Amino acid sequence: METADVVIVGGGVVGCALAYQLAKRNVDVLLLERAALGSGSTGKNAGGVRQQFSNETNVRLQRLAVRMLENFEEEVGVPADFRQVGYIFVLTRPNDVEEFKLLVEMWHQVGLEEARWTTPEEARELVPVLNIDDVLGCTFCPTDGIASPADVTAGYAAAAKRLGARIREGVAVTAVDVAGARVTGVSTSAGEVATRVVFNCAGPWAGEVGRLAGLDIPVLPYRRHIFVTDSFPEVPRTTPMTVDFATSFYFHPEGDGVLFGMSDREEPSSFNTEVNWDFLEKTVQVAAHRAPAIELAGLRTAWAGLYETTPDNQAILGPVEQLGGFWCACGFSGHGFMQAPAVGLVLAEQLVDGRPELDVSAFCYERFARGGLVAERNVI
Ligand SMILES: Cc1cc2nc3c(=O)[nH]c(=O)nc-3n(C[C@H](O)[C@H](O)[C@H](O)COP(=O)(O)OP(=O)(O)OC[C@H]3O[C@@H](n4cnc5c(N)ncnc54)[C@H](O)[C@@H]3O)c2cc1C
Repeated sequence: METADVVIVGGGVVGCALAYQLAKRNVDVLLLERAALGSGSTGKNAGGVRQQFSNETNVRLQRLAVRMLENFEEEVGVPADFRQVGYIFVLTRPNDVEEFKLLVEMWHQVGLEEARWTTPEEARELVPVLNIDDVLGCTFCPTDGIASPADVTAGYAAAAKRLGARIREGVAVTAVDVAGARVTGVSTSAGEVATRVVFNCAGPWAGEVGRLAGLDIPVLPYRRHIFVTDSFPEVPRTTPMTVDFATSFYFHPEGDGVLFGMSDREEPSSFNTEVNWDFLEKTVQVAAHRAPAIELAGLRTAWAGLYETTPDNQAILGPVEQLGGFWCACGFSGHGFMQAPAVGLVLAEQLVDGRPELDVSAFCYERFARGGLVAERNVI
């Protein structure tokens, strides 16, 4: 029977980042992806990378991820196409203004000194298409930006292979084998593998993979759309990622066009990834108010993918106490691309020497049973 020190279930950006960090630490790792690498949520995402979160651990995790993306080519051997154009949060509700003023203080305390409060007029200098009529204030962080999910995923996968990781596409994990409350292996569409450690990196399917091990992993899939316009010089390539916080409408430059999207907060959980063209109309109505010029742009393409959402909009990271050898790196609630570099590093450190450089125990699986969850509020 084939054996591995660690089996990773899922070859999105998170599984690939983790495979790389484990292989770098001489762990014998086998990554199993039932379709193609990056074919899940990773292949659908907007590439946004930001540090402006409401939860301190998320801010620290993202500070680390940004440093890693800045040095990605040196470390991994290919560019991440990380363009630090900044992220701007546009605030129109008095409560949000109060809250973000406190957040700016917290960000400074944890070392995110470059994040700052911005007046509506300054915001319009940064983003000339912005309508600031009802804007009360903004926050801006110039080291946030946009990177390439395809390049980061392929880069980590190639580097992991060079370091000896086995990466198999077209192989589905169909069961997690358990004996005496610990993992002993996995059954797959291509045979059995003996292992003492399984990582659930299955993105929106993390709940299903949990059930294979008899666990209730609270990750639900939600459809999210992306629309991309034709060439649109009014939003040049240096424009920051712009988020209208009250509506969740956002846009950023994409090639010579603009990429925009918004969450449909009414839509129930499902695995549906068909484009709902009625939702384009709703999104354009919001765009017409916040950035009126965008309404005039022609549409080049659209697609939908899945967020992988937990009850508190935060990831589930680390070992699951009730089942020895079962680890989670899932539930990123729409932030998994930006978190992947730091999550891969921290979890590999935790597994190999028990001393991660960042304490992510706040994101343990056991918090759901304990209750008293404090949700991440800066979710787009
Ligand atoms: C429209 C949209 C926009 C987004 N924008 C951003 C953004 O700007 N910034 C950001 O950080 N995040 C963004 N996200 C979220 C981000 O895409 C995800 O958080 C991230 O890709 C999760 O990566 P992953 O590797 O955990 O999951 P995935 O990429 O979904 O990978 C999981 C993999 O597991 C495989 N799998 C599942 N079950 C099995 C099994 N039984 N056996 C073997 N393989 C299995 C699947 O085939 C899949 O390839 C966005 C998401 C969407 C949908």
